[in-house]
Amino acid sequence: MKTIIEPFRIKTVEPIRLTTRDERVELLRRAHWNLFAIHADDVIIDLLTDSGTSAMSAEQWAAVMRGDESYAGSPSYYRFESAVRELMPYRHIIPTHQGRAAEAILFSIIGGPRRIVPSNTHFDTTRGNIEATGAEAVDLVIAEAHDPANRHPFKGNMDVARLEALLARSAERVPLVMLTLTNNAGGGQPVSLENVRAVAEVAHRHGKPLFIDACRFAENAWFIKCREAGQSSRPVTDIVRDVFAAADGMTMSAKKDAFANIGGWLALNDDALAAAARNRLILTEGFPTYGGLAGRDLDAIAVGLREIVDEQYLRYRVRTNEYIGEKLMALGIPIVQPVGGHAVFVDARQFLPHIPPLQYPGQALAVALYERGGIRACEIGTVMFGLRPDGTEVPAEAELVRLAMPRRVYTQSHADYVVEVFAEIVTQREQLRGFRIEQQPAQLRHFTAQFAPL
Ligand SMILES: *Cc1c(COP(=O)(O)O)cnc(C)c1O
Repeated sequence: MKTIIEPFRIKTVEPIRLTTRDERVELLRRAHWNLFAIHADDVIIDLLTDSGTSAMSAEQWAAVMRGDESYAGSPSYYRFESAVRELMPYRHIIPTHQGRAAEAILFSIIGGPRRIVPSNTHFDTTRGNIEATGAEAVDLVIAEAHDPANRHPFKGNMDVARLEALLARSAERVPLVMLTLTNNAGGGQPVSLENVRAVAEVAHRHGKPLFIDACRFAENAWFIKCREAGQSSRPVTDIVRDVFAAADGMTMSAKKDAFANIGGWLALNDDALAAAARNRLILTEGFPTYGGLAGRDLDAIAVGLREIVDEQYLRYRVRTNEYIGEKLMALGIPIVQPVGGHAVFVDARQFLPHIPPLQYPGQALAVALYERGGIRACEIGTVMFGLRPDGTEVPAEAELVRLAMPRRVYTQSHADYVVEVFAEIVTQREQLRGFRIEQQPAQLRHFTAQFAPL
């Protein structure tokens, strides 16, 4: 059959409150046109993020009831540890409350002034945690990644020659090499198994460990299975194990590819580094058998990890975004290609060429999506990246609007509704106007800035 159905039935439902356009016009005005200030109850389809927004399965909820809250040595921890180790063969598995906590612990130990940490593209919390120690975060993604229309199958790959050059020049300043799977900041683009192995070879030849930021490891493995020569008949679990076997450690946000609403971990082989990390963990998160989590969260993650590598799920997951992407392209809406694993990125600079970057075309499109259809998306452009520390403003490299799909939450008709709202916006695109910012903080302005329509 051609229709790829949702490979689950719905057992518990949450009503969506359907607002009217007039209500939303007023809600936008009260929120100063900042979608982060809109109450989630007033959103019809919430595509702000895929982080922590997954629907848990019946088995996960059952596991929540089995959760054991013992301070030390909880059986929940041992179930969590063995589920992680089944896919990621590391000696030490250290739970944390989120991915960024794992990053903060890792870089508090191996970061520091003059250090350089290369990756394909660092996620913003990873970059923040590296820079907070005085170290430098360097992005070495392949050149194809910078062209939204380039259909390279592994646009998340690292440029191995640039890594080689960096290590030849300044190996003593590099404590480790990282790879982000999939490359979130680069549009959810995958990294090939060949590239993981090539990066590991270069890193190891220079005596450096490779750590994987593994938030969307299952989506990445599915892309490897579908797109990489020689991988199509292999089980996704084998591909996952090969990816992690090539590396020496990982950081993880369980809010992504573990179907959990909270959680994360740091896993690694180095005994001395693990001991230092556990000492730090006790100060900032908690005892090493619970990290920053309740026992019930550890159990939900353990079950989620077994469900996320289900190939029927992954086929449906990736197809949902491709489906929306294809329909948007048929409407003539420019998107980042190929569509990534967790989101569709619309190129608002191309879509709204009459709105200059400093009038925030991405914000204009995101506001239009909410006003016309109650859809909440996220501007990833000049609002997010355009404010420099000295207070001046520069256009971002791209003006994107991200439609991030929560896992197992929305159905095909929700996807069709999103497309229909875009179809209406297409007919009125010349009427869309930019914004100016009336009030903003000095940093991370997208969360709290107040806008006014032009
Ligand atoms: C979400 C994310 C993180 C941080 O994880 P949190 O659980 O949100 O702290 C790190 N790296 C990538 C690639 C992510 O997508």
